[in-house]
Amino acid sequence: MCEFPYAGAESQIHWRDLSSFWLVPLLAVAITQAAVLATSIYLHRGLAHHALRMHPVTDVAFRLLLWLTTGQRRQQWVAVHRKHHTFVDREGDPHSPRLLGFWRVQFLNVYYYAREAGNVATLRKFAPDVPEDWLDRVVMRQGWVGIIVGTGLAALGLGPVMGIATALLHGVLYVFVAAPPINGLGPWRGQQNFTDNTAYNWGFLSWVTGGEALHNNHHAHPRAPKFSVRRREFDPSWALIRLLAAARAVVIVGASVRLS
Ligand SMILES: [Zn+2]
Ligand SMILES: [Zn+2]
Repeated sequence: MCEFPYAGAESQIHWRDLSSFWLVPLLAVAITQAAVLATSIYLHRGLAHHALRMHPVTDVAFRLLLWLTTGQRRQQWVAVHRKHHTFVDREGDPHSPRLLGFWRVQFLNVYYYAREAGNVATLRKFAPDVPEDWLDRVVMRQGWVGIIVGTGLAALGLGPVMGIATALLHGVLYVFVAAPPINGLGPWRGQQNFTDNTAYNWGFLSWVTGGEALHNNHHAHPRAPKFSVRRREFDPSWALIRLLAAARAVVIVGASVRLS
């Protein structure tokens, strides 16, 4: 009778013990994947290109997830991204590897993003249709608060050392591994299905970037909700979008493109 609570306490200590440290990379990769998929589905396809419409509950869920895992503000992301589409690889493109150099965009991607995101004129011009609501003003005003709250939640669940290590590793993965290929590698070189734009596709990277590495396809058809256009290409975000649409959590607005 009295063994049960003892066993429970022991397993709790075991969970917080550093012998479970091998879980840190697994959890960090899972959190980064969740953040990448939310960025691609909600910020990119939903808000920036209107290829999807969100149910109000889905909208809040994606925003909370992005606030806790990235601290990004949706108006800023949408404005910087639309500016990129307007000036692809020309003067005015916030993060062009052709203008700035591949390695610069690879390592300073977050700097170039933040520099443009802080430009009020860019926000007014490129994201007037994404107004701030009470959630933006009251809860998600500061991105760093979201990151601290997210790290705090990880520390509560995993213990302080593992929680903070997971959050840090996720930050490195999101900023330096997942995001740069989208802004640096895709526009730099790779394979092309369409010759009407200067971006490239990286088939294998699309598996870990929520389909975002199918950059050539996306620039050819920015309003398509699905980034893959050939049978051999895979867009993980599209698989999740199909599930969300079946659950009526999102409505697919744009038309998909198919080559073969
Ligand atoms: Zn692009
Ligand atoms: Zn886009």
